Amino acid sequence: MNSTKTKSIPYGRQTITDADIEAVVKVLKSDFLTQGPNIAEFENKFAEYVGAKYAVALANGTAALHLCAMALGVNSSTRVITTPITFAASANCVRYCGGEVWFADIDRDTFLLDINKVRELLEKHPKGYFSGIIPVDFAGNAVDLEAYRKLADEFGCWIIEDACHAPGGFFIDSNNKEQKCGNGVFADLAIFSFHPVKHIATGEGGMITTNNKTLYDKLNLLRTHGITKDASRFKNSADEIAQGGWYYEMQELGYNYRLTDFQAALGVSQLARADENLARRRQLAKQYDDAFASTSITTPDNTTGNAYHLYVIQTEDRLGLYNHLRANNIFAQVHYVPCHLMPYYKELGFKKGDFPVAERYYEHCLSIPMFHSLTDEEQNFVVECVLNYKG
Ligand SMILES: *Cc1c(COP(=O)(O)O)cnc(C)c1O
Repeated sequence: MNSTKTKSIPYGRQTITDADIEAVVKVLKSDFLTQGPNIAEFENKFAEYVGAKYAVALANGTAALHLCAMALGVNSSTRVITTPITFAASANCVRYCGGEVWFADIDRDTFLLDINKVRELLEKHPKGYFSGIIPVDFAGNAVDLEAYRKLADEFGCWIIEDACHAPGGFFIDSNNKEQKCGNGVFADLAIFSFHPVKHIATGEGGMITTNNKTLYDKLNLLRTHGITKDASRFKNSADEIAQGGWYYEMQELGYNYRLTDFQAALGVSQLARADENLARRRQLAKQYDDAFASTSITTPDNTTGNAYHLYVIQTEDRLGLYNHLRANNIFAQVHYVPCHLMPYYKELGFKKGDFPVAERYYEHCLSIPMFHSLTDEEQNFVVECVLNYKG
């Protein structure tokens, strides 16, 4: 018990096993450091894990969002709707391409982008005014993308699913079928992050999944400077091309957003434990749900299929509880300061009061420790500290 009290407990953390280390060392001793055979293996296995046709590994989740926006043709005349309760990158990717970000408020129970608010926004403007929607599987709770697809089709919009919080998560569709986050059935593109606080850690790292071959080809090109060595795709004339094996073409203004081969090996090794780790997160969530059931603590929406990246409680005296936990070496966190209240977005015209549900949520939310290696003993200590706080 004593060791539990002195060791600090973060809200989220990675685990690295000996098998992970061996997998990385093996690549370091091989011929490939950047894109080699482990990239393709990670992409294939990840695509299979989420049930999508294609996957593109990238340097990080933000790069993944940027390339999605580029591949979908976001430019200065593009308007895109997303949620204010997300990591800023979900919105920023539109700005990277010069597009306009519009926010819509969140649902007060699920904390997800409120589809009714999105519909209101779409209906208030002529068709074609908005080009896309970026829903986020916030905290691991899967968005009903079937409903979003219907809405998007009505208004000619594309969908990027920000699934960073939800590898392995799913929602139940209207045919009572499980639809996994990032499976490409409803969204045009989905993105994931392998930052250490996420389910699967590669240091930095990201992935795009899709079922759309045209977008997949475009993303592969954009990941590597817009350069291709694939002769079947060359655009220059035959006499320019027929020079030798060194020939390549830069066809679009791409970036260097590659993941390294040793990171991919770490990803493959981590992915092998994904199901087991997800089961542990769900077990921890259930234990929290039970512990807080008849208390003043509001627990998160425990929808089937929740991948529990975060466990967000709501409490009247959030600051007091945050400080109390900190004094006990428990590092809770707040997800998120609403995007529209960031100075950058305020300068673009957003202000306090624009999204009251999101702002109210922000006043009370607190993410308490949730990661697969959290022990029952540690969790009991967290629960004890939350419940013995007298504000
Ligand atoms: C982590 C995260 C990102 C960005 O991923 P990075 O790999 O850190 O660039 C984007 N969106 C959401 C919702 C995230 O949680």
